[in-house]
Amino acid sequence: MDPLPTQFDSRDALVAHVKALAPWAAGERSYIQGGRAKAERKLAAIDPLHYGRTRNFGNGKVTRLSPYLHHGILSLNEVRNEALARCSHPQQIHKFIQELAWRAFWQQVLRAHPGWAWEDVEPYKTGFAAEDYADALPDDIAQGTTGVACIDAFIQELIHTGYLHNHARMYLASYVVHFRRVKWQAGARWFLHHLLDGDLASNNFSWQWVASTFSHKPYIFNLENVDTYFGMLVDTSPAKNVPLDASYETLKARLFPHLPEASCAAR
Ligand SMILES: Cc1cc2nc3c(=O)[nH]c(=O)nc-3n(C[C@H](O)[C@H](O)[C@H](O)COP(=O)(O)OP(=O)(O)OC[C@H]3O[C@@H](n4cnc5c(N)ncnc54)[C@H](O)[C@@H]3O)c2cc1C
Repeated sequence: MDPLPTQFDSRDALVAHVKALAPWAAGERSYIQGGRAKAERKLAAIDPLHYGRTRNFGNGKVTRLSPYLHHGILSLNEVRNEALARCSHPQQIHKFIQELAWRAFWQQVLRAHPGWAWEDVEPYKTGFAAEDYADALPDDIAQGTTGVACIDAFIQELIHTGYLHNHARMYLASYVVHFRRVKWQAGARWFLHHLLDGDLASNNFSWQWVASTFSHKPYIFNLENVDTYFGMLVDTSPAKNVPLDASYETLKARLFPHLPEASCAAR
C-alpha cells in the first residue's frame, strides 16, 4: 500500500485529495484548519484574563482550541502553562484552568467507567423514565429545519463548521432532550458525527449533565437567556423562536409537568 502524502501545494490540493479518498463524504471543508502551526497561532492568541467574565457569550474570549486538544496537536499542560504565563497570579485565570480541568476530569471518569459512555449513569430527574424519550433524532433537528430560528442557526453552524460554542452546545442538548424529549444518546451520537473536537468523554458526559442522568437537575434555558448571550449573533426575535419564548416557571411546568417547582438548572 502506498504511504499517504503529507505535503500539498495548497489547502485546495489537500481538500481535493481527501475528497478523492472519501467520495461518499458529504459537505464542504470547515474554516478550522489543522496542523501544529495553526494551533500555535491560536494558542498565542488566548486571553485567559478576560475568559471568566466573557466565556458564556457567543462573542466571548473562548479559545477554540478544542479540536487541537482532541487530536493531540496541543496538550492540556501546554495550554495551562501558556495561560499561567499571561497572569501575575493563578487566581486571575482560575475559571480558565477549571474548564481545562473538566476535560481531564471527564477523561478520567471514562477510563474508570467505560460503560457510562452510553448508559444512563442515573435515572432522569425530569419526572419521566428513559422509555418516555424517543430513540432517534428527528429529521428536522438533524437538518436544522426545526423552525426555531436560533436553534436552526446553531445546528447549521455545527454541521458546516464542526465547532460550536459551549453555551450553544448546552442549548442544543437541552432542546433535543427536554423540549423534544429525545434520548440524550441520539443527540450525543449526532454531535460526535459533526464535531471536529468530538470526544466520547467530554461529549457524552456533558449530554448526560444536561439530561440530568449525570447531574441532580435537568438543564433548561429560555429565549431571554439566548438573547442575552447570543443576541448579537443569531435571530432571537420572539416570533421566530416561539417554543423558547416563556419564563422559566412556564417552561418548567410545560416541560416537566410531573416535577415539583424549582427542580431545574438554568443559566
Ligand atoms: C452537549 C455538549 C457536548 C460537548 N461535546 C464536547 C466534545 O465532543 N469535545 C470537547 O472537547 N468538548 C465538548 N464539550 C465541552 C465544551 O463545550 C468544549 O470543550 C468547548 O466548547 C470547546 O471550545 P473552546 O476550545 O473554545 O473552549 P474554551 O472555553 O476556550 O475552553 C478551553 C478548553 O477547555 C476545555 N473545556 C472547556 N469547557 C469544557 C467543558 N464544559 N467540558 C470539558 N472540557 C471543557 C476544552 O478542552 C477547551 O478546548 C461539550 C459540551 C456540551 C455542553
